Amino acid sequence: MSHPLYRFAVLCFCLGMAAARTQAAAQQSARDTVAARVPFERELSAGRKPNVPGLEPYRVFETEWGWVVVDDSAKAGPVIATMRAGINRFERIFGKPVGRGVFTVAKEMPQETKDSLLKSAGSQWSWVLEDLPPVGKKRIYEFDFTRHELTHSWMRAAYPNEKAGPWFDEMAASLIQTRMDLNADSLLGLDPNYVEKYFVPLDTLFAMDNPVNAVLNEGRELAYVLAIYAQFCSMGDFFIQHSLDPTIFRSLAEHFERGGQIADWLRTSGPQYSMPTTVAELEQEWRWWLVHNPKADRPKATTP
Ligand SMILES: [Zn+2]
Repeated sequence: MSHPLYRFAVLCFCLGMAAARTQAAAQQSARDTVAARVPFERELSAGRKPNVPGLEPYRVFETEWGWVVVDDSAKAGPVIATMRAGINRFERIFGKPVGRGVFTVAKEMPQETKDSLLKSAGSQWSWVLEDLPPVGKKRIYEFDFTRHELTHSWMRAAYPNEKAGPWFDEMAASLIQTRMDLNADSLLGLDPNYVEKYFVPLDTLFAMDNPVNAVLNEGRELAYVLAIYAQFCSMGDFFIQHSLDPTIFRSLAEHFERGGQIADWLRTSGPQYSMPTTVAELEQEWRWWLVHNPKADRPKATTP
């Protein structure tokens, strides 16, 4: 995800997702346990496609996670692979099924068709990705940020009442990208000096609005947003490497789903995960970890 176009696209999508969170609550009827699903995919014939206006030219595939809609059947394989890898990882890390959904990758799909797909019966999550010309040989749905953005939809489906704030949503999305061991200065190809320059204390980070809004409304520079995102993302790596227990994220998500705050979680569940018990202690440990090389100084957790 090093191309500037895609970095910008990530920020735009994240802003859209942040706004969407304030709209109608996501549908939720997911079961409480994660069951293995047998992967399958088959194209639906014209007569079996969802009854959605304007869907006729598109190809619809039924999968174990719901529908995948594409404008070219050649895309179906990699699009399904991206969704499948991400959703399996989400369920392992966050411990809760996301249910059936609709993932659409198409160019210039009419808005009415997009809207109807979003409301399609039986869908607990939906995301429409506007396809773009490839960068090099890579298509947009093969970049990390596609799984990142899908994760926002899955998080809303699995934990619709979670309102910890942008830091947790962005940390979650970073975890479902390709690597578990994200570093603050490597995730976005960011100059470490930017991270230092724009570093914000944890009590500010946990309470802050999506930093993209600061660019749009306050004229902050893009480097500020990237630095804050790097902080969000590095928190995920820190939680894993400090606790050595990937199930920590399920515990956090369930706590936030019940309306809890990070300070409460640290006090009540921190010891169970070998984590600090206050935000101040967390900040101290995290800053130590950021300064020292985490790869050299900390044992690595295995990816679940
Ligand atoms: Zn995001």
